[in-house]
Amino acid sequence: MKKTSVYDNVTRQFAKAADLMKLDSEIRKILAKTTNEVVVNFPVKMDDGRIEMFTGYRVQHNNALGPYKGGLRYHPAVEINEVRALATWMTWKSAIVNIPFGGAKGGIQFDPSKYSESELERITRRFTFTLGSNIGPEYDIPAPDVNTNAQIMAWIVDTYLSTMPAHERQAAVHVVTGKPVESGGSIGRDKATGQGVVFTIEEWAGEKNFDLKGATYFVQGFGNVGSWASRLLKAHGSNLLAAEDVSGAIFNPDGIDPDDLYEYTQKNKGLVGGYPKAEPVDHDTFLATKADIFIPAALENQITVKTAPTLNVKLVAEGANGPTDPEGDAILQERGIDVLPDVLCNAGGVIVSYFEWLQNKRSEFWNLEEVDGKMRRKLVAGYERVRDTAREYKTDWRTAAYIVALTRLETVYKERGIFP
Ligand code: NAD
Repeated sequence: MKKTSVYDNVTRQFAKAADLMKLDSEIRKILAKTTNEVVVNFPVKMDDGRIEMFTGYRVQHNNALGPYKGGLRYHPAVEINEVRALATWMTWKSAIVNIPFGGAKGGIQFDPSKYSESELERITRRFTFTLGSNIGPEYDIPAPDVNTNAQIMAWIVDTYLSTMPAHERQAAVHVVTGKPVESGGSIGRDKATGQGVVFTIEEWAGEKNFDLKGATYFVQGFGNVGSWASRLLKAHGSNLLAAEDVSGAIFNPDGIDPDDLYEYTQKNKGLVGGYPKAEPVDHDTFLATKADIFIPAALENQITVKTAPTLNVKLVAEGANGPTDPEGDAILQERGIDVLPDVLCNAGGVIVSYFEWLQNKRSEFWNLEEVDGKMRRKLVAGYERVRDTAREYKTDWRTAAYIVALTRLETVYKERGIFP
């Protein structure tokens, strides 16, 4: 049997929405393909003097609505089909929350935990140099994703600017977003994706008359997205029961303090193997945790034909990209479990990336209230569009979210036509 990739999931989700909305068949051909796929092999000198070769990717799916935009992932599982899928989701995401960006994604296939800080810096700088003019502040703008952070964005901006003529450098700081605040980043970008997850959960709770005070949740992935979402939900009086990262899962029926757990992870490597206020549990037990909300915030294909029947929750709020495959989706729907789909639920990150890009272009600094307030308004407007579309087409929220995006893109292609 042919092994299916996460890109097959995107293709199937796309086909379902395109059929239902009767997307123009010519425009369908365009959106079904990525525009550019850059694969680079590049050498880096290791601390011991050896040369190691790395493979990096940048896939640009579509830029009809604005410059290509999307994160960079450092992970051993990075490969062309995964990057294609992640790039395509970025196109839909920007269109759903109505920001003037297209979709792209990139990464390097390696395990960064096995390299020193100075090796990581050289890998990042050489990758940036090798990508050259395939990225650019008005062309394609990377950002953090799994295993990349503000420090890595700082190395990218420094390398990119260093290759430009001196008089053009200041005008190109917006070549990446998610930078440290001192290096031109936006206040609120670090927490933006987790904050957006919580804003969409608040909307869902408001509509369902569901009280978040005393509600229970568990989270897969305790990195940028998972830890922020957990900590921000705590402020509602909700109770974190379990968490999982690459080291394994932990559980406490009386609740885990996400701020305390976050502090622990800052000083120790993983969740499992020392956190004293929860017990380790296996992966299957973790996924079957009885709670109100599950926040997947790690990798793709976690909710599948095998695991969807074991979930014991009212809501899945997708912080991760692609955590649910189409079979998993169908089971959640059958079981009446609500899903806030990734392309909506985790869009807070790209919205605040857009704000960072705007601030850089205008030499402005917004305060946190302004950033959070504007992000919330954009995200809630996207939420309402998806909700209304789900009602109009009598379909699930993921398909509705795709229809919102495809409708916007279809309009633009019809207005502009195809050159020549
Ligand atoms: P991160 O590197 O900060 O954190 C990833 C977390 O997932 C870590 O805790 C890691 O231990 C855990 N993890 C890795 N493999 C795992 C496994 N097999 N089982 C359980 N946990 C595992 O990454 P992040 O930025 O928080 O991204 C997480 C997800 O959110 C990804 O799907 C990413 O594409 C998505 N996302 C991130 C952003 C952003 O702004 N960073 C925006 C939108 C979507």
